[in-house]
Amino acid sequence: PVRVRFCPSPTGNPHVGLVRTALFNWAFARHHGGSLVLRIEDTDAARDSEESYDQLLDSLRWLGLDWDEGPEAYAADAEGTDGGAVGPHAPYRQSQRMDVYRDVAERLRAAGHAYRCFCTPAELEERREAARKAGRASGYDGACRDLDAARIAAYEAEGRTSIVRFRMPDEPITFTDLVRGELTFAPENVTDYGIVRANGAPLYTLVNPVDDALMEITHVLRGEDLLSSTPRQIALYRALAEIGVGKGATPEFGHLPYVMGEGNKKLSKRDPESSLNLYRERGFLPQGLLNYLSLLGWSLSEDRDIFSMDELVAAFDVADVNANPARFDLKKCEAINAAHLRELPVAEFAAACAPWLAAPYATWAAEDFDQAAFDELAPLAQTRLTVLADITQNVDFLFLPEPVADEASWQKAMKPGAADVLRSIHSRLAELDGGSWRAEPLKEAVLAAGEAHGLKLGKAQAPLRVAVTGRTVGLPLFESLEVLGRERTLLRVDATLA
Ligand code: GLU
Repeated sequence: PVRVRFCPSPTGNPHVGLVRTALFNWAFARHHGGSLVLRIEDTDAARDSEESYDQLLDSLRWLGLDWDEGPEAYAADAEGTDGGAVGPHAPYRQSQRMDVYRDVAERLRAAGHAYRCFCTPAELEERREAARKAGRASGYDGACRDLDAARIAAYEAEGRTSIVRFRMPDEPITFTDLVRGELTFAPENVTDYGIVRANGAPLYTLVNPVDDALMEITHVLRGEDLLSSTPRQIALYRALAEIGVGKGATPEFGHLPYVMGEGNKKLSKRDPESSLNLYRERGFLPQGLLNYLSLLGWSLSEDRDIFSMDELVAAFDVADVNANPARFDLKKCEAINAAHLRELPVAEFAAACAPWLAAPYATWAAEDFDQAAFDELAPLAQTRLTVLADITQNVDFLFLPEPVADEASWQKAMKPGAADVLRSIHSRLAELDGGSWRAEPLKEAVLAAGEAHGLKLGKAQAPLRVAVTGRTVGLPLFESLEVLGRERTLLRVDATLA
């Protein structure tokens, strides 16, 4: 059975690159009816934080990317949701597995797959520099590979500390990447590497493959930035198999393409458009955001950009992932989200708006919110919004005691002569009684008032819109006036003319 893992380090805020990796692993697991393991790679106490851990889990839940094993696993068929680690390979937080890694490191050393290295950073740097000058590969030169007991004792007597280094085989490492095809790494480019620090702390280079082996991971889908560690890890898996750690199989690897941002530079965690929280705050739908992120390196078909998560799962094949860098395009991301918003049943759309109709987003008092009035305008808003957060500015005129005073809108709409037009509009609107206060007669009235001033509807309605909503753009005006009601509309026009 397929077993994949998503294994973030809890540092900083979740970003879109991380989400894309999670999504592809999730889709792969779901497509094959396999399992997704969530493993938290928190062995770096200086950088990891509990806050970031909480955010990661919260983000995955918001996205709907459920995991079958791991901390707080909550997939329908997993046991327990009480905050404990769930699954046969618990614990799933590496900070709770340190004994495992110490034991494995010791066994690797005893079997000759790893050795103590006493080289100091200064010595390493000096030899690297010399190798570079001589035009040779500058990886570790193997100085401590075969120290005898006397040499070790002498180093220890000197007070030197040692790291544990993994012994790479002297042959090339070849593997077939699920995205890139066959790749070969020459031994001089992949040299012996550290797996345990001098203070005894196991490194990512050790703990990541050890857990993949113990957790019986079958496929590793991860970012291209990790490609250079893959030959090292493959050699390590083979060593682990030899010493009986895990079931002995080496997982298959697929490296997902880079995501490029502005100016064709790699999208970085520091770019604002890479922050997942930003998308949540702007009111992207999880399915809209995930749909877009799935297109970073993959596509459902040439002519369909918009699809559901079910369709993604049904079609997802890692062999279809494109090795070329993908370009992050915020406009396209927004357009896809807008399409998903339009597809919601209107009641669901209205419900999804709810957070943006309350503090901290909404600026009106809770008691001034009128659900029925909102529901009348929701269908109009649904076809126009890109992100849910924009709902606030589109409907605030209904719930604020007075429309927002937006100076720029005001300047734009209240050109010389606008007051005269507005006065004509007012008198025609005032002639309509409550029963005829409907979009169509309202429009006729404004049209007629505009004609009297030689103005087309668009020009004539501009000052009216600003007087009533405070803005130059918004939902269709006459439907908005209908919902706002006769009395409040006329009062606002009066106030503007006063
Ligand atoms: N914790 C690693 C990272 O976040 C995981 C890398 C991997 O998928 O192997 O970069």
